[in-house]
Amino acid sequence: MRRNAQPTEFYEADNEFLDLVGLTPAIITWGHLSGRRVLLVEFAGCDLSCPGCDEDYTTGRRRVPTRTVVEAADSVSGGPPLRHRTDYASYYKIPWVVLTGGEPLRQNIVPLVRLLNDRGYMVLLETNGASRMPASLPPFVVVACSPKGSVHEDTKPHVRSLVYVAGEGELADDGLPRAVLDLPDPVGRPWPEFLGPVFLCPRRTGDPDQDRRNVRAVRASCGEHGWLYMPPEPYIRLDAADETVAVGGLHQSAGV
Ligand code: SF4
Repeated sequence: MRRNAQPTEFYEADNEFLDLVGLTPAIITWGHLSGRRVLLVEFAGCDLSCPGCDEDYTTGRRRVPTRTVVEAADSVSGGPPLRHRTDYASYYKIPWVVLTGGEPLRQNIVPLVRLLNDRGYMVLLETNGASRMPASLPPFVVVACSPKGSVHEDTKPHVRSLVYVAGEGELADDGLPRAVLDLPDPVGRPWPEFLGPVFLCPRRTGDPDQDRRNVRAVRASCGEHGWLYMPPEPYIRLDAADETVAVGGLHQSAGV
């Protein structure tokens, strides 16, 4: 099994550029956004470097102007979204941008989220929860937290869904993992005030037999404890030639 050898990196403040490894059109496969076409903004670097992490958040990293990310979102959604649409049908047409990584909160995401919200986009922010949520974060952000240890007390009130990753033999009596991705410390549980959905996702190992056993263990836990099943591929990356995003200084084929 590949071990994560990428370095741990800490907060970088920059108002104009973001350190990214990808701008990727994708279809989301989990939660209330399932089936939607989104732009994945994949942030470089992580503040935890979990030993069992299989994400490559280092290769191909580049500094990208914040404005370029907004233009990529327009490219994926077919143009800037209309604002202030209130009818039922149009709610489901509001385009979403997903900030993921790596760890997005390792960088200054506030200017990007402001630009996206002002243009009519909703934002799904995926975080490991170890960092404090910026106080000035605009309102149209939905936070999904995948705890790797404890969740920062100032971040907890912002979290709308929790995601745990687990495999066979890693589950405690409550059906959630004791620890995740080979980190030494126990992983935090949903706190008493948390009322949102809790997702459980099978751990990917690269070994097909082990991956099947992990899926079976997670499905059994969901059935017994009421957690929501998340597929091991939470996003389908769109890699057809006509899904190429070409904006400003960044030209990146989808899925790369
Ligand atoms: S927090 Fe997430 S991206 Fe960072 S090392 Fe852990 S699993 Fe990988």
